[in-house]
Amino acid sequence: MEIITTIHEMQKTTLSLKSQGKRIAFVPTMGYLHAGHASLLREGRQQGDILVLSIFVNPIQFGQNEDLDRYPRNLEGDCHIAGECGVDIVFTPDAAAMYGNGFQTKVQVGQLTLPLCGASRPGHFDGVATVVNKLFNIVQPDVALFGNKDYQQLAVIKRMTADLNLPVKVVGMPIIREADGLAMSSRNAYLSPAERLSGLCLSKAILKVRESYASGICDAALLKNIALNLIEAEPEVVLDYLDFRDVTTLEAVDKATANTLLAMAVKIGTTRLIDNTILGEEF
Ligand code: AMP
Repeated sequence: MEIITTIHEMQKTTLSLKSQGKRIAFVPTMGYLHAGHASLLREGRQQGDILVLSIFVNPIQFGQNEDLDRYPRNLEGDCHIAGECGVDIVFTPDAAAMYGNGFQTKVQVGQLTLPLCGASRPGHFDGVATVVNKLFNIVQPDVALFGNKDYQQLAVIKRMTADLNLPVKVVGMPIIREADGLAMSSRNAYLSPAERLSGLCLSKAILKVRESYASGICDAALLKNIALNLIEAEPEVVLDYLDFRDVTTLEAVDKATANTLLAMAVKIGTTRLIDNTILGEEF
């Protein structure tokens, strides 16, 4: 496994691989890898001749009072997991090189970035779209894998890729959870044991809504109350949003169907957690 830290070296490598006709699979991450990332890497291993993992804590997708400075990092541990998943190249550029002197370009996706996390984190998806576009240009993947865990991010990247005619197949992958239901996230490392227990209300709310929907309840307001009851029972948990949305447009819906996304975000102490489910898909 090769570790590349400069953009120039990565581009040179990409060019050489492309000229040999290699199919590049790419998994962009912010590191501190867990089993969710590993599932993307294992699928990437199947889909490409060469598997590239990027580890880059992207400063421009963090708001001013967010957790950029304390975001967990562990390159050694990440390389160990990457090796186990068959990664060929780990690309870890530094922020100064990615956003050098005079940087002033931004990729902005429209409507899809406005609700949900976009409403609570202004500018976040501009930062995501910009960095993913840059990484696509540097790595030139044939296929890139993203998790449904960040469902709105995946929708934004799919939109950007189509709108800008980027020659990349974007693949969404299922959410990987801990045995007790908590969606895996690098940010789970921030949680105290008590906070982690409270955080289970997200997956509990999802399961309860799925059960209610399966029993015939389709009214989104009713389903929302069912979920809120579980979340509000946890005093440490502060709700950011809990919404029923169309899976494609992310517009709010009154009636839940198989194509409805239930998406939620909460704060527990200083940690922001998100989770979601698509009612017509498996948990
Ligand atoms: P991050 O390092 O948090 O930026 O995530 C990198 C990629 O891993 C994104 O495409 C995420 O959606 C995906 N990911 C993060 N957590 C999970 C999870 N629990 N299950 C599946 N994919 C995940």
